[in-house]
Amino acid sequence: MKTLKSSTRKPARTATRKTRAATRSSAPKASATRAANAKGKGTSPQRVRAILGKLDEAYPKATCALEHDNPFQLLISTILSAQCTDERVNQVTKTLYAKYPTPKDFAYADPRELEQDIRPTGFFRSKTKSILGSSKKVVEEFHGEVPRSMEQLLTLPGVARKTANVVLGTAFGIASGIVVDTHVIRLAGRLDLSRNTDPKKIEQDLMQVIPQEKWILFSHQLIWHGRKICQARKPRCAECNLERLCYSKDKTV
Ligand code: SF4
Repeated sequence: MKTLKSSTRKPARTATRKTRAATRSSAPKASATRAANAKGKGTSPQRVRAILGKLDEAYPKATCALEHDNPFQLLISTILSAQCTDERVNQVTKTLYAKYPTPKDFAYADPRELEQDIRPTGFFRSKTKSILGSSKKVVEEFHGEVPRSMEQLLTLPGVARKTANVVLGTAFGIASGIVVDTHVIRLAGRLDLSRNTDPKKIEQDLMQVIPQEKWILFSHQLIWHGRKICQARKPRCAECNLERLCYSKDKTV
């Protein structure tokens, strides 16, 4: 019995020493991998360049789908587009901009009437407040012109960075940031360009890895890709030209 016990213990101790040694030698590698992953392995310059190249191939002239004739109309349309499709906004603004042709017409409009005019876009009470407040400020403090800086735009009621980025980028060609809407939030995650969920942090992450001269186009390209291919519920990965660069757990191929 004694011989049997000692013969079974020895190999067991040897195996344990081997396992510990193996664990010690692989520890630095594992921590290095964890550190690399925390930074986001999707943001290597080569991969980002490849993604931008594919987006350029698919959407060379992507732009804002909200119809407008001037920066002020784009501001109003962007406010209306919260929680609403661009198509619905465009339907509403067809008659809205004929009825209220200038910032003054919006600024001093009857709130109850304006509420009914924009009702199909949803959240019409809060949108009416934002439109009246922003229009008044544009008329009374900015001489009837939409301001051209992020700082000034953010002083308008109901205007946050997303709206300001749309207006600055599309109406004035000024790249102050990246538009982060529901599509950009989803795609930034699926493409592993950001692991944050807060739009402000996602925008900061994207601004660090996307060259500034691409910010305006990139926002629209992601929005179009999100609408047409990388849809929320069932992404159409078989038709996606980014498929070989994508390792999202949401992939359908
Ligand atoms: S492969 Fe699929 S999940 Fe990845 S970006 Fe394309 S559509 Fe989206």
